[in-house]
Amino acid sequence: MNCLFCKIIAREIPAEIVFENDHVLAFLDIGPVSEGHTLVIPKVHAENLSAGSREDAQVLMAVVHDIAPKILRAVGADGYNLGMNHGEAAGQEVMHTHIHIMPRKEGHPRTFTKLRPAAHEIKETAEKIRLQ
Ligand code: AMP
Ligand code: ZN
Repeated sequence: MNCLFCKIIAREIPAEIVFENDHVLAFLDIGPVSEGHTLVIPKVHAENLSAGSREDAQVLMAVVHDIAPKILRAVGADGYNLGMNHGEAAGQEVMHTHIHIMPRKEGHPRTFTKLRPAAHEIKETAEKIRLQ
């Protein structure tokens, strides 16, 4: 299947993975809106949340529950936004279910503008998260 995120799961294309279990993978977004912007995806391909199993929906949110505090600690953020785009009409670009975790710092603008960090900066952020 020609799916970008399935290729990340299969390690066919690189990503800065920060968490993995039998059902879920979490890695840093290459176009983050804030430092630590993470995507949480099911390992079984589904186009969107409702197309996948209820079990995958549950484990996705359980992983968000567990890793969001670690991401916040790693980058020194004070809160986070969760995001999911369902369907092209809603702005979904990658047709494999994903939850965005977007850390937010007090006093910083809460925009959805994509930053363009260098690869080494994303790598350094991932290392801080993995240390938590
Ligand atoms: P969405 O609009 O919800 O489908 O978001 C897709 C997200 O995937 C965007 O925020 C992209 O920056 C991100 N993205 C695209 N390609 C990659 C990649 N190779 N590695 C990590 N994140 C990616
Ligand atoms: Zn996929």
